[in-house]
Amino acid sequence: SSTLTVSELASKLHKDASEIIKHLLFLGVMATKNQDLDDDAIELICSEFNVEVEKEIILEDTDFDKYVQEDDEKDLIERPAIVTIMGHVDHGKTTLLDAIRESKVTAGEAGGITQHIGAYQIKVDNKKITFLDTPGHEAFTSMRSRGAQVTDIAILVVAADDGVMPQTVEALNHAKAAEVPIIVAVNKMDKETANPDRVMQELTEYELIPEDWGGETIFVNLSALQHEGIDDLLEMILLVAEVEELKANPKASAFGTVIEAELDRGKGSVATLLVQNGTLQVGDAIVVGSTYGRVRAMVNDLGRRIKSAGPSTPVEITGLNEVPQAGDQFLVFKDEKKARQIGEARQQKSIQENRSEQTKVSLDDLFEQI
Ligand code: GDP
Ligand code: MG
Repeated sequence: SSTLTVSELASKLHKDASEIIKHLLFLGVMATKNQDLDDDAIELICSEFNVEVEKEIILEDTDFDKYVQEDDEKDLIERPAIVTIMGHVDHGKTTLLDAIRESKVTAGEAGGITQHIGAYQIKVDNKKITFLDTPGHEAFTSMRSRGAQVTDIAILVVAADDGVMPQTVEALNHAKAAEVPIIVAVNKMDKETANPDRVMQELTEYELIPEDWGGETIFVNLSALQHEGIDDLLEMILLVAEVEELKANPKASAFGTVIEAELDRGKGSVATLLVQNGTLQVGDAIVVGSTYGRVRAMVNDLGRRIKSAGPSTPVEITGLNEVPQAGDQFLVFKDEKKARQIGEARQQKSIQENRSEQTKVSLDDLFEQI
């Protein structure tokens, strides 16, 4: 738990360390300046000084960074790429996602009923690829604004009959800002008015220059509607993934991001998690955003119950106390008590943050009225 020394606590309370030591002595504890204090002792002393344990002290411990252990190089193994499809409205993102899913998932996994859990995984040449099924923009805007980076490769869909449009530019800017490699999928090639050269020409303005023209960007011509060029695209994704050398440690405590979440009348809080490192197991004590719980049941993108999920795997879980938000990060703790402690502290923090946000809003409103 907390690791404040006597002098650290003293400085937080704007007191002299000797005063803290005196109080501890009064409480029957002999302490030195450099002694570590646990949460209970901290709370006790704070109350002695009539200071509410403004959770600041405990809240310092809520950062996942403090609990994520560095991976040993020798434990790292290749992991599937996580791919987001982006592009202008009506250029064929959904059609492409469906075409990819249909071409691989149902063929390879007979009997599986594809579930829409916000992400799915396919297998190409014995290698897996994970696709985020949520609108590409959200994956970048809401998730990135919350500090989550869940995409390894961005597919920029541009309709060959329409060319570069405002949301095309927006999408490529998001991907560039995130330093995510972009593959351009020139879609709707079946249309008579398709003009892929124009798309390439237009994209040079944004430094997406095809290899044929001396650049480094991969362009794939396809028709999502007619399922043409899908295999080429998948091959290119594998190629880029290999260059990126995507790795993870399956032995680590599972860490990742919430793709989507909702309240189900029967099952309670249901969340789709993307495992980014480690292996998530049924029964794990887990902190997710500002809620926590134990993984009660885990279901994959084919609706099958599974017991564990390794890196880059999307899974739907139940067992959380509350519904987290898309973009929230999660971390598994070995110790259930620790998970609850941190979960509760994060909950407190989020309540406080909401409160101060509300105060801000009402102040703004006030000024507006003046
Ligand atoms: P999104 O808004 O980017 O998700 O676009 P949709 O996938 O919903 O596609 C928009 C429209 O374009 C739909 O009517 C699709 O049937 C059509 N469409 C998508 N891909 C193709 C394609 O390769 N060729 C043709 N002709 N139409 C397509
Ligand atoms: Mg769509």
